[in-house]
Amino acid sequence: MRRNALLIVLAALSAPVGVVAQPIGTRIVVVQAGQLLDRPGRPARGASTIVIREGRVLEVRDGHIAAAAAGFPEAEVVDLRDRYVLPGLIDSHVHLASDTGGVASQLEEVQLEPAAKAYNALVNAHKTLAAGFTSVRNLGDRDGVTLALRDAVRAGKVVGPNIVDAGTSISTTAGHMDTALGFRDDLRDALDRHDNLCDGPDACRRAVRLQVARGVDLIKIATTGGVNSRIGAGLGRQMFEDEARAIVETARLYGKKVAVHAHGTDGVKLALLAGVDSIEHGTVLDEECIALFVKTGAWYVPTLSTVNGYLERIAADPNAYSPAVRAKVDWRIRVTGESLAQVVPRGVKVAFGTDAGVSKHGRNADEFELMVKYGMTPSQALVAATVSAAELLGLSEEAGTLEPGKRADLIAVTGDPLRDVTVLKRVSFVMKDGVVFRDVRGAGVPQ
Ligand SMILES: [Zn+2]
Repeated sequence: MRRNALLIVLAALSAPVGVVAQPIGTRIVVVQAGQLLDRPGRPARGASTIVIREGRVLEVRDGHIAAAAAGFPEAEVVDLRDRYVLPGLIDSHVHLASDTGGVASQLEEVQLEPAAKAYNALVNAHKTLAAGFTSVRNLGDRDGVTLALRDAVRAGKVVGPNIVDAGTSISTTAGHMDTALGFRDDLRDALDRHDNLCDGPDACRRAVRLQVARGVDLIKIATTGGVNSRIGAGLGRQMFEDEARAIVETARLYGKKVAVHAHGTDGVKLALLAGVDSIEHGTVLDEECIALFVKTGAWYVPTLSTVNGYLERIAADPNAYSPAVRAKVDWRIRVTGESLAQVVPRGVKVAFGTDAGVSKHGRNADEFELMVKYGMTPSQALVAATVSAAELLGLSEEAGTLEPGKRADLIAVTGDPLRDVTVLKRVSFVMKDGVVFRDVRGAGVPQ
């Protein structure tokens, strides 16, 4: 199946100009920025010039320097003197293969061929990059769709955000990653074919190794039920301590980080005690959870945008979710955001992550508004989506700031995102690896 998906992604090379990959080459680009936030968390440095060579930042200078004065008379000049320029954004939690939900996603499970999912993943990757997100962490899909896309992007065969990929997520049988939930019993043999369900430590070690064998960058697991799990089994712990420990220990053998889907406090504690790297959602947290975050240095990834996805689907169709799922969706809408408000004053490390797939791809920046609503300053939210997310994804040497040696991944907006984060919803210019992917300045796009 993986090979199949890769072939389909390669077929997308016939896409229109603008989304076809260009070689990075040896060319030099000089970007003149009106304002430059080169290192989020520190003050913006005002009018600046960024010199880019071979897709990486060569130097950053004060003021607007002409190409010849910069020592590169042949350089291409990008005039962003009326824009606010900042590093490409990073979303630590996406699912590029889909953004259907509820009953529609259940149908998709049995209707879509992996090859069709691969096309969808490519389209969603373009939406994500157009929104200014130049790196993402893909936390779970099936059939190796996004793994193949990751490799195609890395090889320069197609344009997309840089992808850090978890392959297929792991849970226990009847857990959040059990594809067969909500289908007839006799369909289990057909649907449960991803080797991602494990019961008992030995099976969990094998499940991790199978993902490692596929070439994943990290391991994603679920220690609790999920809102979208198609049974009414709650959102508490659904994994035993020996299973969680076996997963983390095995991932460590191969130098892989572990990201954990968890809603209830018991599943959060189980994961943090097992030594995981990030808690996704963490919808309910108590004092003990927060103390464990601080003690272990694990990251919290809020995924507040999920609520937007739920509300939009229900508005479009009140029956978008089955009754068992709808009860959990309503609860999640009520309480999401409370955990972020709790952890921010306590100094817990927060990385930006939307769970796009539950919410719509390309709307990732909506998360900034919600992060500020629940207690972060605009600067903290921007740090979460750049410096912090880069650290969580293991990309600190590559992304998160615009410093010499890093990838020339940058975006431009009108207005100051440190005063109003909603300007990040209207990214008018996106450059990845020194190549312009999107430039809609003056194209009638609302500013
Ligand atoms: Zn997710």
